[in-house]
Amino acid sequence: GTVISVEHVSKSYKASTRPALDDVSVEVDKGEFVFLIGPSGSGKSTFMRLLLKEETPTSGDIHVSQFHVNKLSARRVPRLRQTMGVVFQNFRLLPNKTVAQNVAFALEVIGKPRATIERTVPDTLDLVGLAGKADRLPHELSGGEQQRVAIARAFVNRPLVMLCDEPTGNLDPETSQDIMMLLERINRTGTTVVMATHDHHIVDAMRRRVVELELGRVVRDESRGVYGVGR
Ligand code: ADP
Ligand code: ADP
Repeated sequence: GTVISVEHVSKSYKASTRPALDDVSVEVDKGEFVFLIGPSGSGKSTFMRLLLKEETPTSGDIHVSQFHVNKLSARRVPRLRQTMGVVFQNFRLLPNKTVAQNVAFALEVIGKPRATIERTVPDTLDLVGLAGKADRLPHELSGGEQQRVAIARAFVNRPLVMLCDEPTGNLDPETSQDIMMLLERINRTGTTVVMATHDHHIVDAMRRRVVELELGRVVRDESRGVYGVGR
């Protein structure tokens, strides 16, 4: 089934002359792995922010799971966001909480019972390979480990979709590859992954669906794509 449906979506920011997204249509099925590529300013972050209802489209329709995102009341936005786990380039961990506390916090804020949290957090740390580092603080970890914590936090509630905005942008190639193996593992559990990236080595190695944006338009959508020639 379709998990993300973006139909003829345009987005113009007030301050700007050209639209950030210009008549974009993309459908993503459950379990797909999609690379969102394109130069800086092409609209990748706007695309993700629209899915999360952090921005509203100027025109067009957006559905995520059962949610009609552009018609959704503010009251139901938290429910929408619970269907998506978000990972950023700069990790965005809470510096004064341990690894386990960072992951647990994602469940606490949505009101999960303590017993559920105590059962789920160790399983998720295990999945990302950080079972032995539950009591460390973020600054005691390498960059790759910090990103694993961020992925654990995003995935601990078993979202339908993982939205990853340049998750390897601050990591060396070897660490990036480890992170990609982890995202592939998460994808194999049936989780849809949408990943914005500039990393052509990763895109070329994985041969997954590639949606390319340029000046807010989809210029390419290939099922087993590469980063592209001459870029
Ligand atoms: P990308 O993630 O591919 O770098 P963005 O979605 O961040 O692209 O940006 C797309 C376009 O929208 C750019 O021209 C950018 O300057 C503009 N833009 C993004 N966010 C805002 C904003 N909050 N206000 C005004 N313009 C914005
Ligand atoms: P990098 O891999 O980026 O070189 P480090 O050398 O900082 O990272 O970390 C290597 C390992 O040592 C990691 O597994 C990390 O968890 C651990 N480590 C680093 N600093 C500390 C610290 N202050 N206390 C405990 N463990 C640490």
